[in-house]
Amino acid sequence: PAAADLEALQYADVAALLPVPGAESDKYRRGVVGIAAGSERYPGAAVLAVAGALRGGAGAVRYVGPAADAVIDRFPETLVHSGPPSKAGRVQAWVVGPGLGDDADRVRDVLAADVPVLVDADGLRLADRATVRARTAPTLLTPHAGEAAALLGTDRAEVESARLTAVRRLAEEYGATVLLKGSTTLVAAAGRPVRVNPTGTSWLATAGSGDVLSGLTGSLLAAGLDTVDAASTGAFLHGLAARLAARGAPVGAQDVAEGVPGAWREVVGG
Ligand code: AMP
Ligand code: MG
Repeated sequence: PAAADLEALQYADVAALLPVPGAESDKYRRGVVGIAAGSERYPGAAVLAVAGALRGGAGAVRYVGPAADAVIDRFPETLVHSGPPSKAGRVQAWVVGPGLGDDADRVRDVLAADVPVLVDADGLRLADRATVRARTAPTLLTPHAGEAAALLGTDRAEVESARLTAVRRLAEEYGATVLLKGSTTLVAAAGRPVRVNPTGTSWLATAGSGDVLSGLTGSLLAAGLDTVDAASTGAFLHGLAARLAARGAPVGAQDVAEGVPGAWREVVGG
């Protein structure tokens, strides 16, 4: 591909995109992000998505699902609900999927919302293409190579051998913005250059780090960034957070989430 078909955000680009609350702002104007994640079997994914979301710039995080006790125990600032997402109250952007198991109803309910939706993990398995294509509000899909292969009906090796082709095809077939995770994270949307994330590190290859990314990126969506900017800014901060947390040693996903404020400060020069 021609170089103009690819672009990488620089520090200054990310600094200009990061939301800063105005003097008259309040938690609702900053944006409310809804997290529909977790299950009895996988409560940790909900906790990690919330951990990412709390550091992403939204004014409030709502959690909807069966892991509310685990979420509240770790993050008492979360607003928790046990009913369907559509009954949870005002939300400016949703994240659906991490650790969700087979709860197709929760996915369907979130996809019916007229606000931006980030779909990850189990949500990618449960969302059907026609439903995603029919959405009027923007959709952001965040598969790793295996999930991307399932969405495309191909195998993982084929995605890995032609990642740029795969991410573009997914964006076109689903009428969505797509963030393809992996050794280099790519963000594609129809009619836009593909963004290549420059901050990744293989220390991110650890369980739960993708859940942190989905919450963080969802929070940026709720704060008002468009899907391409939220995805590429989320990946940029996520990679930098892992580098800062790791500094050459292994870290877990919680450490990555806790590294986000330091990454944010490094980007804005604080
Ligand atoms: P998931 O596969 O959902 O757990 O997400 C894993 C996260 O780690 C994503 O943000 C990936 O982009 C990142 N990641 C995984 N492997 C690597 C790697 N080898 N180099 C850089 N980032 C990686
Ligand atoms: Mg994942």
